[in-house]
Amino acid sequence: MPSEIAVEKKKLKNPPLELHYLGDRVLRQPAKRITKIDDELRQLIREMLQTMYSKDGIGLAAPQVGVHKQLIVMDLEPDNPANPPLVLINPTIKQVSKEICVAQEGCLSIPNVYLDVKRPETVEISYKDEYGRPKTLKANDLLARCIQHEMDHLNGVVFVDRVDNSLTLAQELSKNGFSYQAVKPVA
Ligand SMILES: [Zn+2]
Repeated sequence: MPSEIAVEKKKLKNPPLELHYLGDRVLRQPAKRITKIDDELRQLIREMLQTMYSKDGIGLAAPQVGVHKQLIVMDLEPDNPANPPLVLINPTIKQVSKEICVAQEGCLSIPNVYLDVKRPETVEISYKDEYGRPKTLKANDLLARCIQHEMDHLNGVVFVDRVDNSLTLAQELSKNGFSYQAVKPVA
C-alpha cells in the first residue's frame, strides 16, 4: 500500500508546527489515548514529520508540538528517501530487557544538549499504525532507545530527567540557555 503519510524529506524554512522547549509546561502534561485514526490525524502526522525533518530530528512526540495525544513519529534514516517513517499511535511497552545500556541522547525540545542516559537495551511494544492496524515491534540499539525516549514524552518525561550526572547536566543546560529548575529527576 502506498503510504499516504509520506512526505518529502527536506528542511522547510517554515515548518508547519512549532516546537515547545524544556521549561514549557506543555512538555510535562501526559498525552491522551487516541480514539479516532482518521485523515485529520494523518494530516497531523504529516506535519509532525515535516517539522521533524526540518529540524534534523529522528523522532518527535506530539506533546513537543503542543498536542496531547499518544502519537510519535520516527525516522532513523532521515537522509534515506527509501526508508519509510515509523508512526506509533497509543504505544504500550510489553517488555523491556534487564540489560541496561548507556548512550548519548539529544532532543528537539532541548537543542544542542547531548548527554548519556541509561536505558533497557531492548524493548517490545505494541501500537497502532497510521491506519489503525495493530502492530508489535521488538527493538534494540538506537531504535529501542528512540522509542523509549519518545514514549517518555507521552508521560511528560524528558531525557534530562534521566541523566545521572547532575553537575554536567546543570552545566550543559545553562550553556545552552536552559534552566536546571526545569529538570524533574525520575525516581
Ligand atoms: Zn525528545
